[in-house]
Amino acid sequence: MRTLESFLNGKWTSGPGTPALLVNPATEETLAHVAPAGSLAEAVAYGRDVGGPALRALSFRQRGALLQALAKKLHGEREALIDLAVTSGGNTRGDAKFDIDGGLGVLAAYAELAETLPEDPWLTVDEPAALVRTSKVRAQHLLVPRHGLAVHINAFNFPSWGLIGKLAVAILAGMPVLTKPATSTAALAHRIGELLAGGDILPPGAFQLLVGPAQDLFDHLGPQDVLAFTGGAHTAGLLRTHPNLVASGVRLNVEADSLNSVVVGPDVAEGSELWDLVLRDAVIEMTQKAGQKCTATRRILVPQASLPALRDALAERLADIAARTGNPASKAVKMGPLSTGQQLADARAGITRLQEHASIVRGDPHRHDFVDAPAGKGFYLEPILLEATGGQSDPKASLHHVEVFGPVATLIPYDGKIAGAAAIVGFGGGSLVTTLYSDDREFTARAVAELGPHLGRLVLADEKSAAASFSPGCVFPQANHGGPGRAGNGAELGGRLGLELYMQRLAVQAGASQLARLSGRAAAT
Ligand code: NAP
Repeated sequence: MRTLESFLNGKWTSGPGTPALLVNPATEETLAHVAPAGSLAEAVAYGRDVGGPALRALSFRQRGALLQALAKKLHGEREALIDLAVTSGGNTRGDAKFDIDGGLGVLAAYAELAETLPEDPWLTVDEPAALVRTSKVRAQHLLVPRHGLAVHINAFNFPSWGLIGKLAVAILAGMPVLTKPATSTAALAHRIGELLAGGDILPPGAFQLLVGPAQDLFDHLGPQDVLAFTGGAHTAGLLRTHPNLVASGVRLNVEADSLNSVVVGPDVAEGSELWDLVLRDAVIEMTQKAGQKCTATRRILVPQASLPALRDALAERLADIAARTGNPASKAVKMGPLSTGQQLADARAGITRLQEHASIVRGDPHRHDFVDAPAGKGFYLEPILLEATGGQSDPKASLHHVEVFGPVATLIPYDGKIAGAAAIVGFGGGSLVTTLYSDDREFTARAVAELGPHLGRLVLADEKSAAASFSPGCVFPQANHGGPGRAGNGAELGGRLGLELYMQRLAVQAGASQLARLSGRAAAT
């Protein structure tokens, strides 16, 4: 059986320790071993000292051209990558495309952004501002690439998007990358790593891949390094308190759990186009990637009067997906399994917690027969819809705290007022995204101010834009990805704003003519 190794210090390598076993989550057939790496001190220095200077010697546009070339190379392997995502991640072909094309989309967007950036080795944030009225001394803010290593720790659910998306932003900003995918779905990330490490596009040291555990990685990071983490709140807590990360002041960005909500406005009439959009999006958000998306909808807030009709219509649509849940190798299948046995156990335990304040209105968490699945094998969970039976006004209720990372959502009645919806959304403690469906302009305008502080992204869906709208869980590189509080308090992507994570904000305080010379540098050279 194949053993997957890390790409560190310019070579494929592994260290001592027991390899982890990877299985196909649809059949439990074994796929590969993942070998742990040894100490990472050398790899951290290699990235910083070899990859960093090589990238910083290039302009933003030249680095953008690297991203373009990577996108082209990966696109050439797209079909093989999709096949691998199906066998190694339990993805349907649609799920696999979502993950792989999502990553390619970030590469393309940041390559395009590079075209708009200056030839200078820094970005200008603002115009020079006078410090005191009587002096010619001004202050102007620049962003300069950090002289460290960008370390990326990713979650299991998006082995492609997570790896490629984070890498695109760091490379454009001018930082070398050391990326660690989650072990359970490392097969796809490893193949992408092989393509990136080929040596034909990125300069030596600009990309390193660590598979298996993080080992002593965090002990070697320092003040110029950036650690971008995506995963669970518990792991995030370990990083936030890691002695060296704290003592060295390593910049840490966290993308963690989120109880994303949907708010159905009181004006959304049964049978309208907007009503249909609510249903379409709810089904996608519950079942795409078997609900294993950080942006998936977990709470659906519906005015009390509309709830029974919405519940019945949604349950009917989910029944169709339930009938087509199974082995994604089969064309008939619409939803695959969860990624690991542990995820399945966690999801079932989470549903039990939700049942403290809700009852299941559709689905059986212990169903065991699935389309084309070998008997007794695979980590399957059919779509489960719950309805709150109380607790919606209790900030401590499990409805607002338990993130079931699977095809599971809870219908929650609210009073049809934006303040009532905002209170419930806020009980989630900070979310990545909330979607509001309404044609009522005043309701919508109030939502921005009332819901906004709890979110990283607010999707406003109305009848006019219904036909062209995207399902809210889709993260676009142009829009901020992150959220306050429980969601990690981090921020990634968001077009040019995303570069800030990997750059140092620098106030340059100087005379007006000197600042003018700095900003005219490209023209002068
Ligand atoms: P996880 O268990 O926290 O793992 C995330 C990453 O951290 C993996 O690469 C994992 O490596 C690594 N890790 C785990 N323990 C570690 C430790 N002690 N030291 C260093 N690294 C460690 O999360 P997950 O199960 O993969 O992902 C599910 C969670 O991620 C969900 O809660 C979901 O909400 C969240 N998520 C958030 C976003 C977002 O953008 N906000 C996106 C996706 C997922 P190993 O696999 O080798 O253990």
